[in-house]
Amino acid sequence: MRGVPLRRFAGFAVVASALIAAGPAAAQGPAPGEVNVYSARQEALIKPQLDAFAKATGIRVNLITAGEDAIIERMRAEARNSPADVLLTVDVARLIRATDAGLLKPIRSEELEKAIPSQYREKDGRWFALGLRARVFYYNPEKVNPAELSTYEALADPKWRGRVCMRSSSATYNQSLLASLIAHKGAVAAEAWARGIVANMARPPMGGDRDQISGVASGQCDIGVANTYYFVQMQNGTDAEKAAAGKVKPFFPAQPGGGAHVNVSGGGVATNAPNAANAQKLLEFLASPEAQKIYAEVVFEYPVRAGVAVAPQLQAIGTLNPDTLELSLLAAHQAETIRIFDRVGWK
Ligand code: FE
Repeated sequence: MRGVPLRRFAGFAVVASALIAAGPAAAQGPAPGEVNVYSARQEALIKPQLDAFAKATGIRVNLITAGEDAIIERMRAEARNSPADVLLTVDVARLIRATDAGLLKPIRSEELEKAIPSQYREKDGRWFALGLRARVFYYNPEKVNPAELSTYEALADPKWRGRVCMRSSSATYNQSLLASLIAHKGAVAAEAWARGIVANMARPPMGGDRDQISGVASGQCDIGVANTYYFVQMQNGTDAEKAAAGKVKPFFPAQPGGGAHVNVSGGGVATNAPNAANAQKLLEFLASPEAQKIYAEVVFEYPVRAGVAVAPQLQAIGTLNPDTLELSLLAAHQAETIRIFDRVGWK
């Protein structure tokens, strides 16, 4: 551990002194030199980044993985006694939920503020995006001419009646998409959109994002909506997934006045973090060029940091022109999305 050389990241030069300074206070708590990560991500998608952090800094990483809702519940239940230093999860709706529950604390980090565009972090530093994903269309090229496709709103047009595969409204991915439409066009227009989508569904909402792509491939619907990384994962997946991905084409829709709806994976420092300095170091590392490259190559997310290459396989499915909406603004619309989904009968 001790022999780990200091790497080129500016922040790491201070790790050793930060740990010494933390000595007396840490005597009652966990040993210094570690960081406890509460993660809702599949272990295979986050461990390479955490291993690289441990190697670069000598800080031991203790990883606890649970479902997206379970990990937030656990932090909430543990309250002041929680050993959590960092929460890592997906979807801005969950980062907002954790923020609203008081589980994340504001931090100031010049490194994070420089690395991450302001629309992808909470203004007081409670959460930071670490990867981007777009929620886009997948269509059957035998049934749909891409010239017919444009915006999310246009998918509510009656011409798509009985032709659309959509996931349940309980998926935060769809809640965030609707919240972004509220932010852009107002609640009345967003509700009309949701009502139109329900009318256009080829089947009741079922399954995950991959199942929407498979639904198009099997002919159940002509067009489906799913996050970008799922399509690439299917291209690399089982024979059945490969075959399904081969039968559909991605299309990157636009938002009113912008590009495709993007969401994030990200994290923040826990309010009661026993190792808060290490927690901040970890977030700074995850936004570094080295870790961002791992996100791109292992997770197939778009790097949040400018200047880091998109994985070639992801780049191949289309060029992302991201909606520039400030994602923390979606916090104001969370409750409204649930009411709209209820009113329009989006199961
Ligand atoms: Fe996902």
